[in-house]
Amino acid sequence: MQKTLVIGAGGVASVAAHKMAQNHTVFPDIMIASRTKSKCDTLKVDIEKRFGKNTKISTAQVNADNIDELIKLIRNYKPDLVVHLALPYQDLTIMDACLACEVSYLDTANYEPLDTAKFEYKWQWAYQEKFEKKGITAILGCGFDPGVTGIFTAFAMKHHFSQIHYIDILDCNGGDHGYPFATNFNPEINIREVSAKGKYWENGQWIETQPMEIKRVRNFKGVGEKDMYLLYHEELESLVKHVPHLRRIRFFMTFGQSYLTHLKCLENVGMTSIKPIKFNGQDIVPIQFLAAVMPDPSTLGPRTVGKTHIGVIFQGIGKDNHPKNYYLYNICDHQECYREVGSQAISYTTGVPAMIGAMMYLQGHWKKPGVWNVEQLDPDPFMIELNKWGLPWHEDFNPVLVD
Ligand code: NDP
Repeated sequence: MQKTLVIGAGGVASVAAHKMAQNHTVFPDIMIASRTKSKCDTLKVDIEKRFGKNTKISTAQVNADNIDELIKLIRNYKPDLVVHLALPYQDLTIMDACLACEVSYLDTANYEPLDTAKFEYKWQWAYQEKFEKKGITAILGCGFDPGVTGIFTAFAMKHHFSQIHYIDILDCNGGDHGYPFATNFNPEINIREVSAKGKYWENGQWIETQPMEIKRVRNFKGVGEKDMYLLYHEELESLVKHVPHLRRIRFFMTFGQSYLTHLKCLENVGMTSIKPIKFNGQDIVPIQFLAAVMPDPSTLGPRTVGKTHIGVIFQGIGKDNHPKNYYLYNICDHQECYREVGSQAISYTTGVPAMIGAMMYLQGHWKKPGVWNVEQLDPDPFMIELNKWGLPWHEDFNPVLVD
């Protein structure tokens, strides 16, 4: 009987744990462990109310910044896989604990030091040999973006292209939660990501832009016309390494004017800073204080309406040696997600791929000693499960390109 340890009890972990309970033959026994145990207990009650008790669920308290606590928890529970859905700051402590206990690992976001707003794969890639030697697997970035975007790329490479030259990843959230300013996943991580400089890769080099400097307008199927902006996003780093013949890769995300105006204003007054300041004799980090007063993303579910549309446009030479354009995408409805698992579509589009990635490992498709980005693994069984578990994908052989 396979056991899965889920670390974290926020928006993404909630969806992944709900989907594991739906998929109880693959996940007969799970443990949800997080910083605040009461959140794990509430989650367990909600899951059992919706989907019954076919999956045995236990809960625990853990500080995932503390390796000794993690090792103790893993040794007691003895999972086959640790699914890390807490925050990117904990990637390395959890990977270290997995190494010490010889257990495989999966996450949805790459490591980012708490005191520097800079995410990079180098820290996690450095574990390649250690994981290989222990015969355990680490699957990195298995949400939607990163995650499904990399799996779409592996699928396009395997079935459609002999060479991919251009990739544009498009992330559109057409959802409306009714607040003037809120984020759909962890506010601190979200604001760190979008307030950073933009960056894309072309002809062998990285080109940096000012935040939100490059804007395009696009009509997204299922959503309508939206402004989208070029951002740096973590899968660009791994795809540049893993897609041969690539000439350019970019990432665009949609933002509404209200979000951007609030963000600019908060930046201008210093509220997005990650440098601690003294306040009433106490050290506080402005962005953490801001996150604490903003709406909790896990409460946005009931009030968010509309759809997300996330996809990847590929251009290159097809298997028949002719030029080819190809678009793979998913459309997801916020309210349908809420009805099914009590969460909005941003958590859903991340939590479902995390569950499927865990399934790929437990079923042996992705059991391979070492540290892997998802585009290095076989996309076919994953693509089949995406259609079954709530994120069906669509193809367009004549997509409108981004200039
Ligand atoms: P939330 O803030 O909703 O949840 C984070 C959870 O982690 C909370 O339950 C929190 O505990 C717990 N946690 C934080 N620190 C610790 C710690 N030291 N020890 C134990 N538990 C801890 O975040 P989300 O669910 O929105 O996001 C989860 C992850 O998914 C993030 O890494 C995010 O970057 C990633 N993500 C990836 C996406 C993708 O497509 N690849 C898209 C969206 C998110 P507490 O409840 O006590 O605060």
